[in-house]
Amino acid sequence: MKQRIGVFGGTFHPIHNGHLLLARHAAESLGIDRVLFVIDRVPPHKTLAEGADENDRLAILRLATSDDPRFAVETMELEREGKSYSVDTLRELKVKYPDSELYFFMGSDMLNSFTSWRAPDEIAKLATLVCTVRTGQSGGEAETAAELKRLYDANVILLDEVSPLSSTIVRNRIHDALPIKGMVPDRAAHYIYLNGCYQPKEISVLYERLKKELKPQRLTHTAYVLETAIDLAERFGADPKKARIAALLHDCAKYLPEQELLRFSDTEPPILPILHAPAGADYAKRAYGIDDPEILQAIRLHTTGDAGMTLLDKIIYLADMIEPSRSFEGVDEIRNAASIDEMMHLALLRSIWYIKQCNQTVHPATLRALNDIGGKMERFGEADALAICKILYDKKAIDILALHIGDKTIIADWFVVASGTSVTHVRALCDELEEKAKEIGLEIRRKEGYEDARWIVLDFGFALVHLFHPEERAYYNIERLWEGDDNMIRYPISE
Ligand code: FE
Ligand code: FE
Repeated sequence: MKQRIGVFGGTFHPIHNGHLLLARHAAESLGIDRVLFVIDRVPPHKTLAEGADENDRLAILRLATSDDPRFAVETMELEREGKSYSVDTLRELKVKYPDSELYFFMGSDMLNSFTSWRAPDEIAKLATLVCTVRTGQSGGEAETAAELKRLYDANVILLDEVSPLSSTIVRNRIHDALPIKGMVPDRAAHYIYLNGCYQPKEISVLYERLKKELKPQRLTHTAYVLETAIDLAERFGADPKKARIAALLHDCAKYLPEQELLRFSDTEPPILPILHAPAGADYAKRAYGIDDPEILQAIRLHTTGDAGMTLLDKIIYLADMIEPSRSFEGVDEIRNAASIDEMMHLALLRSIWYIKQCNQTVHPATLRALNDIGGKMERFGEADALAICKILYDKKAIDILALHIGDKTIIADWFVVASGTSVTHVRALCDELEEKAKEIGLEIRRKEGYEDARWIVLDFGFALVHLFHPEERAYYNIERLWEGDDNMIRYPISE
């Protein structure tokens, strides 16, 4: 049996899922083995040519068709000089695939104007015509088909259209910052956003500048954040155009010199990784001319969050964390959470956990953000705090307490408080901890008060351990200061 080849011509500006569905539907219903997507040239004067050039259209087409082994891209019309006619393309294909039957795809408007094409009789000899008919909108295609049979002995197959989607719809949606999820294959959509295709002028200008200022990897991340922010804006009803700009510029200060970034620090010591956010708000204003305070705030809060975040702030914070290239454990849980605050809750917990894991300081604004949405922090390091308690207990310490203070202060997550019966005993407790710390994977960074041994403080980073002589313990009573509703664990834990 001869190989059946579908010939699908178009400007593909851009290709969309409607095209792909049609190609698959035609392939399956007509037993077509291979579909060639023959991309047309767009005359430069056409307004259509704006928003994506030939390379873009071709790249998008290639990405969109790469998943299906039956699909291939044919560029002969791009390479041809002068005006391109379908008959030339079909002739060339017949030479290239001599032992095949060609099926030429067209819309009903093309069928209706078929007699005025160049060499219709030859086209009819070279290929079977496959015409898609808009559901409920047939305009006498059956009659036209019969007429063409009589005139040119043309074989015409009518197929119901499978999708009402069009390239114009896709372009307009991109222009208006509306999602194109499900309209264009994901990989093609990533390309469109990464390259700023079909964006309005004022957005293209931002792209051009960003391309110069960001490293390629950061630009890719930015495009992903943009895509995600637009989706979230639609899902939760935020202004998608503001989301687009905020997403695009959220990391614009990423590569500013360190001393420039340090000007925006409000902690001692500075937390360098978060500073491109406040610096970015300032830079977006100075260098990119953005003065919308809502957009600038969303940029400013994208690394730390804060109390009183707007919907837009949350969307940018989240988009940054869950964009499609992120793959940390739990990311899908955040993506699929039911409400924006639930998403924020999980995202903030994840962020705090991660920062602590890296032994970095959590910015107070992040804790404010968590408290603001009624979030409770997981007790980071509880097992380790209890392991410290156990070492002290085994060494006969008395009145052992673990106090969880992580949501009250950034100095540590835990206080472990214990007493010895004498100065010697207190010192022995300290020695024991120093000896055993490594065994349980902990490190002591600082030790104070060992000489007097009436109040020794050991700094484990996530925990501060206070070893007291009973007199000092009673006098300072530090647990009273920190005691809360349910943040105190007495050791050993009684059932
Ligand atoms: Fe960032
Ligand atoms: Fe980012």
